[in-house]
Amino acid sequence: MKQTVIVLGSTGSIGRQTLDVLEMHRDRFTLLGISANRDSDVLRAEAAAWNPRYVACREKADPAAYPAGTELICGEDASERLAAIACDTLVLAISGFAALKPLLSAIPNGGRIAIANKESLVCGGDLVKTALKKHGATLVPIDSEQSALFQCLQNGRKSEVRRLILTASGGPFFRRSRAELEHVTLADVLRHPTWNMGRKITLDSATLFNKGLEIIEAARLFDFGADEIGVLIHPQSIVHSMVEYCDGSVIANLAVPDMRLPIQYALTYPERIASPAQPLDLAAAHDLEFYAADPERFTALRLAYDALRTEGGCPIVYNGANEQAAELYFANKIGFTDIERCVEAALDAYVPHPMETTEAIRDADETARAFVRSYAERIKE
Ligand code: MG
Repeated sequence: MKQTVIVLGSTGSIGRQTLDVLEMHRDRFTLLGISANRDSDVLRAEAAAWNPRYVACREKADPAAYPAGTELICGEDASERLAAIACDTLVLAISGFAALKPLLSAIPNGGRIAIANKESLVCGGDLVKTALKKHGATLVPIDSEQSALFQCLQNGRKSEVRRLILTASGGPFFRRSRAELEHVTLADVLRHPTWNMGRKITLDSATLFNKGLEIIEAARLFDFGADEIGVLIHPQSIVHSMVEYCDGSVIANLAVPDMRLPIQYALTYPERIASPAQPLDLAAAHDLEFYAADPERFTALRLAYDALRTEGGCPIVYNGANEQAAELYFANKIGFTDIERCVEAALDAYVPHPMETTEAIRDADETARAFVRSYAERIKE
């Protein structure tokens, strides 16, 4: 029997690479549904190439542009409605906080959720954890670092783990001084040394908010505390992360930086099959460098650890303030180093309290965004 797969966010970077992986293994997988925000040429081309039963689109789409028999799901909640349809594996490749509702709507199916979105885990916290337990759904990470941890964790018991070590490329600027960072341009930001990704995550890599989110994401996925998760700068992005066990042994995951590999593993786990990624040639390749990532030097890391220790909605504020600041940065309204200023100020202004409902989560997120919008006005003056 072929496995059925639904891909939310099929026109984005991870979504398109997921379809590449499925294409290689058409004998194993059937694409049941795809979703995107816009009724774009890319979505139409994917529908024509794959003929999935469901196409979900946030914009109103023209049925004539899709293959006959396609069930079009349109509207604000299109992704949530598609996520609720049962399948073997749902690939969650939507970016940002917007992925939380589709995640919560997919969990009751009790299937596998291959998750590339970190914001939904960071913000969903206990709500997601409780729902997963109740419905027996499984999360398998796609994010390269989380996939590496997931793979390294297959080598021992949880009680034997001393700490998780996330590697960070450090982005394009980690050798620059703070004064130099004041003047980096958007073009500098979007030139990531090792990964070719969407622009929000590329910006997050340059600010290290991506790594901050990953610290919280790892805590959520694997149930470890802030003190058990470390970060190491590794500019070559060959070691994707490591797990240190109680005997001092460190298990690392190495591979060429190619997202199709963790995507495929999330689809085939616990099995491994041939992949389109190039094999790693360590002899020809690279010096592997590692540097300490001092949370005091990297504001985004310090704030992430603080948010994770405090909880009470702080991780939601951390994420929401960063998303809003990123939008303002892309709109040329604030500078590069203003992003961390905005997030730190939003966290300082926030009073933590329990997050027991999706409404509480949405409120914390909206409060953080509103705070950043008004704070950005003030720092401009
Ligand atoms: Mg990552």
